[in-house]
Amino acid sequence: MLTTYLAASSFIISCSIAPVSTGVDLAQLDGWDIVLAPDAIASEVYAAEEFRDHLVLAGAPELPIVRTAKRPGRHVFIGSSHDMQRSPVGFSTDGFGSDDLRIVVRDDHIAIAGGRPRGTLYGVYTFLEDYLGIRFVTADFTHVPPVGHYRNIGPIDRFYQPPLIWRWADFKSNYVRPDFAARLRLNADAVSTGRSTRIKRMPIGSTDWSIVGKYGGRSSTEMVLHNLQHLIPPDRYAEEHPEYYQMWEGEKLVIQRYADGRFVEGLQPCLSHPDVRQIITTNVLDKMAKTPDQLNVNVGQNDSSKYCDCDRCAAIDNYEGSPSGSVITMTNLVADAVARNYPGRMVGTFAYSYSEEPPKHLRPRENVLIWYCQHQCFIHAADDPSCERNVIQYDRIKRWSQLTDNLYLWTYYFSHDRRGFQLPLPNLQWIQRDFRSFAALGIKGLFTQAFSSSRGNEFEGLRNYILSRMMWDPTQNAKQLMDEWLDLYYGPAARPIRRWLWRLHDRALASGLHRHCLGGRYDEYGLDESDVQAGFDAIDEAMTLADSDAVRTRVELASIWAYRAALEPVWYVTADKSVEPEVAKQVRPFAIKFFELCRKHGVERVASGGYFAMEKMEIRLKDHLGAW
Ligand SMILES: [Zn+2]
Ligand SMILES: [Zn+2]
Repeated sequence: MLTTYLAASSFIISCSIAPVSTGVDLAQLDGWDIVLAPDAIASEVYAAEEFRDHLVLAGAPELPIVRTAKRPGRHVFIGSSHDMQRSPVGFSTDGFGSDDLRIVVRDDHIAIAGGRPRGTLYGVYTFLEDYLGIRFVTADFTHVPPVGHYRNIGPIDRFYQPPLIWRWADFKSNYVRPDFAARLRLNADAVSTGRSTRIKRMPIGSTDWSIVGKYGGRSSTEMVLHNLQHLIPPDRYAEEHPEYYQMWEGEKLVIQRYADGRFVEGLQPCLSHPDVRQIITTNVLDKMAKTPDQLNVNVGQNDSSKYCDCDRCAAIDNYEGSPSGSVITMTNLVADAVARNYPGRMVGTFAYSYSEEPPKHLRPRENVLIWYCQHQCFIHAADDPSCERNVIQYDRIKRWSQLTDNLYLWTYYFSHDRRGFQLPLPNLQWIQRDFRSFAALGIKGLFTQAFSSSRGNEFEGLRNYILSRMMWDPTQNAKQLMDEWLDLYYGPAARPIRRWLWRLHDRALASGLHRHCLGGRYDEYGLDESDVQAGFDAIDEAMTLADSDAVRTRVELASIWAYRAALEPVWYVTADKSVEPEVAKQVRPFAIKFFELCRKHGVERVASGGYFAMEKMEIRLKDHLGAW
């Protein structure tokens, strides 16, 4: 069980328990107070404020926040304190992990406390969701039902430790709104988008909690990126030592330059060369000294499917049955140096592309973490035995999980590149099954790559919510969460939107097709113009059902995704090709509306990167369809 209900006799409870306990009526909190420890850290103070403010929004009185409990009873203890530990709901948080929490409700007392720096704050959000029905729907929309005249809860005593200790959903709102990311209990970060400098990490071994601020900072575990190019840069070494860089099918890739003199994309170092290993190790140790708040320094292979196949590397890889052999051999050597110089710290590396297949004989050292990039078919569940791609992927993840306790996953929940961020992508149906199976394999963290660079993308709010909630607690019912989110966000207009969403999923599954995780054209998911029409019908119906300007605006935003689907016949036509006049005539009005709505709703990008700015796409389609 991921949620553990501790027995009253548990060692963790330090005070005597009354023989018959009663719960607490949250509608009758007049005269209560919120008790913080005198030395509460910023995130615990913020947790108390969040508790107080949301209770007020629910119609309860504004409870004073105090630092000492001056009378017996009617206290909400937020965070561990001397007074809390002496109270009838007292417990110690010693040994709690950074996000672990415990909630005790009994006999005129509530205690919500967790490990530092985030456990107490996450405990408050868990309490608000589970006992007051509050939902953090989007960054700007929190659903707070009135507490009413009677809301008896408890007695309660629950401890929660999230099975995934590293969680990040790659949506722009999570980067720019750290308050919302905290409410979703996302405790990490990915690419450098400014959040990394604003949301700090605790230096390893430090207890100076003032560093991380009111949202509790972020995990000290650094996601693995393609960084070997920085650890042994060809610009610096290739001229003098071409042998430091890879062979590929009998050729030295280092001498193949682009016209402008740049080295080929993703040029890998030769990982079995002793000098290369030494240079990488030296640079890792150097980086470790400079980043005391980073648990791990990474040696992530560059982004290319070509590995070094020189005789020396090939000998290792042949024996290990995979190019992960030379990757892990090098990573283990670096990890040994780190263990000698920085005990307790780690080295991360990828299982990606050619290194997805684990080695046959080697095991990563205990201080190595592996970030597996999972290229699954999104029409089927990760552990679906009938999907060939997923059988291979899942088996690899499983075997890695048997080799290491430090396995993290990089997953993809968006349509990539040319297909674009706005095209509806039916890949939400397996989140519950997938996340549960990952947790069961002991996966430590999940990065769900998505639309970090822009907003207004298909079902973005829903995606973010479901991915984040299910990462926090994979035992939840994802379908129920989705239904609830749609009802809250679209109100009376939810029904047709829901029908549209599930139609796409059902039709994709019924198509018998398989499609990898970076999304696809409509036809690659078995979808066609009838699904485009279904989208327009759903939007029309939703618009007539919408009962407020806020909901109408949300439905209009959703209509962008329907218009985008209508552009499938012309979206991928390259500049050197032309569009049939009949098709152009039919699609043109949809294109005009699509770009008009994108401008209105601030939808700026088709995908990541300068090439995919919305204006560029508009110019391209105007060329094909005639200017407007
Ligand atoms: Zn080599
Ligand atoms: Zn499949």
